[in-house]
Amino acid sequence: MAPLKLLRIYHVAIPLLKKVQHASATHETSENLVVEAVLADGTSGFGEGVPRAYVTGETMATATEELCRVDLSAFVHAPRSFEDVVQRCRELVMPGSERDPRRAFGNAARCALETALLDAYGRAFNTPMTAVFDCLPEARPIRQHRRWVRYGHVITVGSRKKEFLRALRTRLYGFKDCKVKVGVDGSTDDVTRLRRIRRVLGWQIDLRIDANEGWEPGEVRQRIEELLEFRISSVEQPVRHEHVAALASVRGSVPVALMHDESLCSLEDARRTVQDGTADLLNIRISKCGGLINATLIAAYAHRHGIGYQLGCQVGETGILSAVGRHFATNLAGIRYLEGSYDRHLLKERLTVEDLTFGFGGWAPAIEGPGLGVSIDREALARVTRHVQERSVE
Ligand SMILES: [Mg+2]
Repeated sequence: MAPLKLLRIYHVAIPLLKKVQHASATHETSENLVVEAVLADGTSGFGEGVPRAYVTGETMATATEELCRVDLSAFVHAPRSFEDVVQRCRELVMPGSERDPRRAFGNAARCALETALLDAYGRAFNTPMTAVFDCLPEARPIRQHRRWVRYGHVITVGSRKKEFLRALRTRLYGFKDCKVKVGVDGSTDDVTRLRRIRRVLGWQIDLRIDANEGWEPGEVRQRIEELLEFRISSVEQPVRHEHVAALASVRGSVPVALMHDESLCSLEDARRTVQDGTADLLNIRISKCGGLINATLIAAYAHRHGIGYQLGCQVGETGILSAVGRHFATNLAGIRYLEGSYDRHLLKERLTVEDLTFGFGGWAPAIEGPGLGVSIDREALARVTRHVQERSVE
């Protein structure tokens, strides 16, 4: 099989259909990193990462620098098998993560790189990317293939009219679960808002909330108690990461599960969560966790320690990350909720030929085929590309 010849690093700006607002940020376009791994025989594969300073501390500039500096010597020699590729990917360490005690810095870049390598070599070996799960012994206890999975909906903060329409759409579209973003400073009263939303949704839909670090440590318990009447099943990232230790005393004293998101970016973070007892659930998003391999190892670790997990997504991720998320969703057991595959509902350009948007009820099928199982629409990629850089691998 051919060795890796070069990396092509694309800075893309994906136009969003609507402005997305939550407590940590507001987006109108999404700045993403697309990596193309080109093998010596001309085979290429694509990956995507979404660097966000408020999640892993990465920017487009730092993520690009990581990709230019990362040690790729393992890929200079041709791999013997896809399993060999997975092993080499598993051992990839981004230079910046070595200085980060959370081992998260560089994860978006790592995700783009790892996905591109797995896609390229999956195509070269005519092997689906899902073979990754069989190459990770830790994943064995949670291995479960499903042909169909069901995504949930997210209601972001917006005007009363938008909020009503989003809640109505959630109900009419037949979703079984829904996440509501709360905690945006001063803009709204969450109790009143949840009451209005529950009225539209009815009581059949599983409702959870995400505060995106918007609450102070001292008010978490009271805020949760105020919302109990709306039968919320979990509260995601109530406080900023630096205050996360405060959740240990809240956990268990409220009848609602606590979920880490911004506080869960690596296996290191997952270990800390178990050690400090700060959460019941982890929101695993592929990009911030550094790719499919790390995301799977985190899920397996959580399972071993009796912690639940869900698949999350990054606002603005394209069909590339939707495809990776789909592989995760359709191959691992015990995933509490699924988010992602919002492509057509959120993006003006999705970058993949295939439309991965879920259908009615949030249902979506497993993806088949070698590598990532989707193909890149090169014209769409050219339309959204702001800058391209190449790194040859010798
Ligand atoms: Mg979140």
